This record gives sequence, C-alpha cells and structure tokens, in this order.
Amino acid sequence: MNGIIEERKQSIVLKKAGMENSGITCDKDSVSGSVSQRACVYCGARVVLNPITDAFHIVHGPIGCASYTWDIRGSLTSGDDIFRTSFSTDLRERDVIFGGEKKLEAAIEEVVLKYQPRLIFVYATCIVGVIGDDVEAVCKSISEKYAMHVIPVKSPGFSGNKATGYKMACNAIMHLLKSYRNQPVQKGINILGDFNLAGEMWIIKSYMKEMGIPVISTFTGDSSYEKLIKAPSAQLNVVQCAGSSMYLANLMYEEFGIPYIKVSFFGVEDTTESLLKIADTLKDENARKKAEEFCAEQSERVEAIIAKYRKNLEGKRAAVFVGGGFKAISLIHQFTALGMKTVVVGTQTGKKDEYEVIEKIADKGTVILDDANPAELEHYMVEMKADILVGGVKERPLAYKLGIAFCDHNHERKHPLAGFDGVLNFVEEINSSINHPVWDFIKSEVSSYE
Ligand code: SF4
Repeated sequence: MNGIIEERKQSIVLKKAGMENSGITCDKDSVSGSVSQRACVYCGARVVLNPITDAFHIVHGPIGCASYTWDIRGSLTSGDDIFRTSFSTDLRERDVIFGGEKKLEAAIEEVVLKYQPRLIFVYATCIVGVIGDDVEAVCKSISEKYAMHVIPVKSPGFSGNKATGYKMACNAIMHLLKSYRNQPVQKGINILGDFNLAGEMWIIKSYMKEMGIPVISTFTGDSSYEKLIKAPSAQLNVVQCAGSSMYLANLMYEEFGIPYIKVSFFGVEDTTESLLKIADTLKDENARKKAEEFCAEQSERVEAIIAKYRKNLEGKRAAVFVGGGFKAISLIHQFTALGMKTVVVGTQTGKKDEYEVIEKIADKGTVILDDANPAELEHYMVEMKADILVGGVKERPLAYKLGIAFCDHNHERKHPLAGFDGVLNFVEEINSSINHPVWDFIKSEVSSYE
C-alpha cells in the first residue's frame, strides 16, 4: 500500500507459509497522525467499569467527555440501572482557570445526598490532567466523610491509549476489592472480561449452572457492589476479554492468590474447549462429565443448523478488526468452520502472544495488522476483496461506503454472539448481511457510473 506512515509498517504483516512469530509491533501507543481507531484512556476505563449496574459514574471534565461515553455499552442488567445515567461536573473555562476541585466535591456530595450510593467512580479526563486537580484527595475526603467508596479513576484521555484506560479501570476495581481481601475461599469462579452487551453473561452463567459451578462475581457485565466484593473468595478467575481484564487477573493473583485461565465463548470450538478447561482446572470430574454431555448435545444441534447456511457462505472472504486478540482468534476459527477465508485480521489492543496465535492459524496471504487506521482498513478490504467486515461502530461506515457487508461484534449489537446460541445468531447475521441483494445493487449502480 502506498502512503503507509513509515512507523506503521512494522504493525502490518503479510502471513507467509510457516510464519508463527513475525515480531509484529503491537501493544504500543498509537503513532502520531495515524488517526487510530482506538478510543482515549478515559473511554477505555469507562467501558470496563460502566456495566456495574449500581455504580455511579461521575465524569470530572467538560460535558463532551460524558456525552461521548453516555450509555456507551448497551450492557444489560438484571438489577439496578443507574449505570445508564451519566453524571458530569461540566467543567467550563472559569473552572479550568481557577481549578475544579470545589465543583467536583459539590458534585459528589450532591450525588451522595440524593441517591445514597454505595459505589462511585470519579473519572479524571484530559483537562483535569492538564490543570492538575487532586481528584484522589477529593475522593478520599468524601469517602471518609460518608464512610463509602468514592474511587478515583486516573484516566486523562491523552495519558496513553485505550489499553491504559483498561488498566486504570482494573486499578479502580482493585481499590475496592482490597478492602474485602480477608474472606474464606468458597467453591466457584469469577468471570472476567464479559460485559453482558446483549445478555452474554447470562448465557455463560447458565452454562456454569449446567455444570454445577457457582459464579461468585462477574467483571463487569451485570455486576453490582454486593457481588463484586465477594470476588476475593473465588477459587478461579476465568478471563474472556484478556485485553481489558488480564491485568486485573494478574493483580488478583498477586493480591489474593486466585489463579486464572483464559477462555473464549465465541464459536462452537472455543466454547466447548473453554467449558472443559474450566472443569479441568477446578479438577471437578462431575463438571467435566456434564460439560462433555452438554457440549456434544449443543454442538450437534447447532451444527445441523449451520450446515444449511454453509453452502451460502463457502468461499466468502472476511475482514476482521476488533478490540482484543481473543475475539479475533475466535472469529478466524468461526469463519474457517463456515468454509470462509479470513483475509484481513487486526485488533486495537492485541498482545504479542495473541498475534502469535493469529499468525499460526491465519491462511497464507492474510493481512495482519495492529492498531489500524481507516485508510489502511479501507485499502486492505478492497485489495483483499473482502465480502464482509466484522468490527465495531467506528468500522461500520468504512465498510458501508465501500459497498461491503458488515457485522457488529462490539458495543451496539442487540443479540448475543456468545455460546452455542450466539453461534447461530452470528451465522444468521453473516448470512443475511453478506448475501443481501443490496450489495449487488450498489455494485451495478457504481459500474453504471464508470
Ligand atoms: S478524556 Fe480527553 S480524549 Fe477522552 S473524551 Fe475527554 S477530552 Fe476527549
């Protein structure tokens, strides 16, 4: 591709035969001027913490920061829904000049007196990082005054990349959990890195119930203060979105001695493997037996339906650009199972070990890219003749304006894509999107102008 920024070249790799570790540059701050698809540090922190259903989120910054992330994840709740309301200190020029600490203090007190919350997160945004308000001190003083948890989230947007925001969110969670460290171990797991966007956490929990494994706490899909504080008593942490939650898993291992495993509940193959891995790690033979029976039954049911779609999809070409590496890996497996080829694959925050897996399982000739920008994505979708792009809200218009089908695998979707039922939703969406007559119409319209 002509015009690739020189510093970006190390983040784009063409899969060659036998390649397993190309040394692709990843897990770094974005290159200046590249217009990364990533969000800012504050947004990264907010998306991890937002699904805690009874937490209050106060954004210390201009109103734009709050509106940008207002109800950013369509996370579903089985309890409270205050998390869907965004609170802001609405900083103005005067506050920037004279400081915003008093305004922040007043805002937190207003929320405390009006709602009697048990858990408040206070986010420091770009301008707060610039003017230097002591958010930590304000949170500490109100926490002590009202004997409750007011937790600062150090997330000025410019202080790193979206992955830095994930870490800041994990630090904020640990700030809470450390107060509840002394609990006896109880049978059960914590699920990390699922945000219940369209009910996925409920699907995973139903599988655990089927296997007789209690779920102690969830991070952070459909979680609550009462459930979160029990987390230090779990036997095992099960990490789905490693990009956002592996840092928390490591902290919980260091602080509470809770071991962790990586899983993925996207696709028949990965879901089955993950359920068996959980049972094996817990050394629970009964759970393993139940998982084997359940997965065999579900796989048979799902395979029978997928078989009907396969003939529509075989040979089609997919481009994938998602947040984390685990999802990209599962999507390659899913497209392979459908007889499709993944011709472009990339992530916003994938780690080195995840890119090694991607390079191992990708077909020869696949374009692999980290932290891509819109120009690169558009170029490779066209060059690699992709029939569909799987991504998030920021990738959708890139595909549509090229006349390429799109599947939302991120915040805005309304149907779950996890577990066995999720596989069916995924296949149905890929089929109806890729085979929709509108793409032929667009191509014929475009060629009539050429
Ligand atoms: S924190 Fe900074 S980059 Fe993020 S939304 Fe606010 S102003 Fe924008």
